[in-house]
Amino acid sequence: MEFYRVQNGFKLGGVYVRRKRYSFFIPCMFALCLCAIAAPLRAQIKQGPTPFGVPETGTLVGDTSNLAREAQDWLVELVKINTTNPPGNEQQAAKYIAGILTKEGITPEILDMTPGRSAIVARLRSSAVPDPSKALLLVAHMDVVGVDRTKWSVDPFGGVIKDGYLWGRGSIDDKSMVVANLAAFIALKRANAHINRDVIFLATADEENFGDASLKFLIAKYWDKIAAGYALNEGGKIIMKNGKVQYVGVQVAEKVSVNINVTATGKGGHASTPTKDNPVVHLAMAVDKIGNYTAPVHLTSIVRRYFEGLSAIEDDETAKWLRVIDTPDRGEHAQRVLSDMNPMWNSMMRDTIAPTMLQAGVRANVIPSEAHATLNVRLLPEDTINVLLNDLNKLVNDPSVKLQVQNEGGLAAPNSSMESDFYALITKVSAKEFNGAPVLPFLSTGATDSAQLRLHNVQAYGLRPFAMSEQDDTRVHGDEERLPLASFPKGIDLIVRIVTEFSVTH
Ligand SMILES: [Zn+2]
Repeated sequence: MEFYRVQNGFKLGGVYVRRKRYSFFIPCMFALCLCAIAAPLRAQIKQGPTPFGVPETGTLVGDTSNLAREAQDWLVELVKINTTNPPGNEQQAAKYIAGILTKEGITPEILDMTPGRSAIVARLRSSAVPDPSKALLLVAHMDVVGVDRTKWSVDPFGGVIKDGYLWGRGSIDDKSMVVANLAAFIALKRANAHINRDVIFLATADEENFGDASLKFLIAKYWDKIAAGYALNEGGKIIMKNGKVQYVGVQVAEKVSVNINVTATGKGGHASTPTKDNPVVHLAMAVDKIGNYTAPVHLTSIVRRYFEGLSAIEDDETAKWLRVIDTPDRGEHAQRVLSDMNPMWNSMMRDTIAPTMLQAGVRANVIPSEAHATLNVRLLPEDTINVLLNDLNKLVNDPSVKLQVQNEGGLAAPNSSMESDFYALITKVSAKEFNGAPVLPFLSTGATDSAQLRLHNVQAYGLRPFAMSEQDDTRVHGDEERLPLASFPKGIDLIVRIVTEFSVTH
């Protein structure tokens, strides 16, 4: 067993490490015996040192505000590096991060994927022989989605700070997570702490397109460099309501994205003599039926726990429905009300189908012989596309319309455990950071890199450590994405504490 030995009172880079040198088993045995007889005494003991030198949560990390200021500067610089995917150009961001790590005496490795596109990895070792099953991977992506510049009031790649926000594409998704991970990694290094597991920093490319520079290919090429038993990634959220943190959502699973091609075929010809065979009409009817279809509710264990937690903090009207969502008599009605109330809740309860693309015709006066639509399906992780496809075929019930699943679908991965030590620690530290706010398991309706990791037996958990309102949250991938800077220091502090406590305690 590794113990962690540093000078008492050593403090650097925001990480304060108290001397902790003890034999673990003997005090534990003693503590067990003592607990049995001393429970009534405990109330009389005022705030004193914890028994047997075991540090309480929080004593490992001191003030992180200076580190947060540094991290904010890194984030501004990263936002200025345009990594719109495609083409991505993540190599430039990787080089910038490499510069920061090198200054700290860490040797990063830039992992080239395709021309101009790279990931960057760095490792703090706990021992000469690595134990990947214990290692903690801090992962975030450097690429961003595109912008419609006409809809932005500032330069989306200017790193502009205005009205208490850092504005820019990637300021939230996901460069803020990149710098939070980087800060936690550097804090560990500066503290020179004796860690009990390898901690790996990884910034990836091509997350937004899941293409040939993405984590899938990184795993295939470089798994030995990033293999870990645990991971911290994006995917969760900390929601603010009325200026207060309402809850912390820790992503433990995600929905699976699958596309379906819809093709209607019929008799093409002169538009002056139409027939009932027009594929444009058949396609439109099919899309109408599918677009108005509501898949059956399937409450997974994660979503049940999420709604249960929410029922304790939502307003009375909402809580009333949340409490009966699973009951035989009022459940169905509650599911309908809640689905109408919040599109995310609707999507967490069932498979959804969104028609997203239409294509037909080449001339205004020509009836085409084919018409096409694309459906984007988001499956619950436990559902399969074939069952849904069967239901949709029955619904459309038109021999001239064919539905075909596209090959490159998302990945159905197992959930991360809600019973692991790491999940328990994330829950404990998050609740403490946000004054006892509930921490709830979260099924994200969007996809992240965590599915890839979960398929490789990594217990991956998704956070977005910066508290923000639903409104701020909805600007991700939208116009005027911007990070509320008031939430930034606490977000950095949260990740530093989670990473430190997981890797320097037993
Ligand atoms: Zn993202």
